[in-house]
Amino acid sequence: MDMFDTIREHEQVVFCNDEATGLKAIIAIHSTRLGPALGGCRMFPYPSADAALEDVLRLSKGMTYKCAAADVDFGGGKAVIIGDPSKDKTPELFRAFGQFVESLNGRFYTGTDMGTTPEDFVHAMKETNCIVGADEEYGGSGDSSVPTAQGVIYGLKATNQVLYGTSDLGGRSYSIQGLGKVGFKVAEKLLEEGADLYVADINEEAINELMAKAGKMGAGLKAVSSEEIYRADADVFVPCALGGILNDESIEQLRVRAVAGSANNQLLEFRHGGMLQQKGILYAPDYIVNAGGLIQVADELYSPNKERVLRKTKAIYSALLNVYDYSAAEGITTIEAANQFCEQRIEARTRRNSFFSHMKRPKWAVRT
Ligand code: NAD
Repeated sequence: MDMFDTIREHEQVVFCNDEATGLKAIIAIHSTRLGPALGGCRMFPYPSADAALEDVLRLSKGMTYKCAAADVDFGGGKAVIIGDPSKDKTPELFRAFGQFVESLNGRFYTGTDMGTTPEDFVHAMKETNCIVGADEEYGGSGDSSVPTAQGVIYGLKATNQVLYGTSDLGGRSYSIQGLGKVGFKVAEKLLEEGADLYVADINEEAINELMAKAGKMGAGLKAVSSEEIYRADADVFVPCALGGILNDESIEQLRVRAVAGSANNQLLEFRHGGMLQQKGILYAPDYIVNAGGLIQVADELYSPNKERVLRKTKAIYSALLNVYDYSAAEGITTIEAANQFCEQRIEARTRRNSFFSHMKRPKWAVRT
């Protein structure tokens, strides 16, 4: 296929090759209609450049929607470095990557994603200012899992509002998949609110730690296996681990009334949004619920401030309610509603931006 067909939806795709450091990376800018492109940099031993290109095109497009949904002034972009994060990382490689980012002159901002850490970007930051999400000691906003978990809590409140007519979290049961950086914080908050939990994690330490906390609070907590979590008799399923977990097999097993969690790309395929709807399960689109981390890094434009970030994260509650309302009014799935909502926002903003860009000063007004 013609390369321009492959990248037809994207504004710009940059292949970064540096023989001296072994850097092979691709930066994809899907859209800068809402602002400079923003998206993390993933490092993965892709089997081929084609596989890396496919991933970066898909992920950068997703960022355009995520930024639009979170109403931050950024567009969608993403970078991938082809390599094994456990073997191929060097300071020089990340400096070289930073130079390529800098060459885009502010069109692309990036930071950590799967396979990269804030420490890697300390090297890239020597070459470019377009790095977000750095550790606090380097002037960044630090751990993004705090606002992400907060956003999940607002997502659950909005979901309960639709299901039960009240946003209270207590007195309900939740099945949480994954007690990592985000899932653990969500679980703690739900226990504090008096909820009952089913939890699953392949890491027993996380389960034991939560058990100890729940024991002290006298709260209801049951650990189940990674397979059983889909069949848990809970009100809401809260996926906070893997992508692709909403598929033919798992949806068949779900007994919950709703799904709302932080995991990225929860629907294996778009059609699974329809399958959930047919089963009467309310699905909270993942990229709306998990936008807390994005809101935090986008907020670095104004210099880090945790309270402001948490205040902005609250908007996830109303954004999700809008999507639920729109989906019900139009008779479409919640994921379709979320996508349409984002497309409309991008269109409206672009129209406004181009309106102003056409208000050029008349020539006679220019002083010479
Ligand atoms: P994490 O790596 O800290 O936690 C993931 C947890 O899931 C780990 O405890 C792991 O042991 C567990 N896990 C893995 N496989 C499992 C399985 N089969 N069954 C049950 N548990 C399993 O990651 P995180 O930062 O907490 O992120 C969780 C999800 O949220 C990911 O999908 C991530 O992409 C997404 N997300 C995170 C952020 C953030 O700010 N951290 C932002 C947006 C989206």
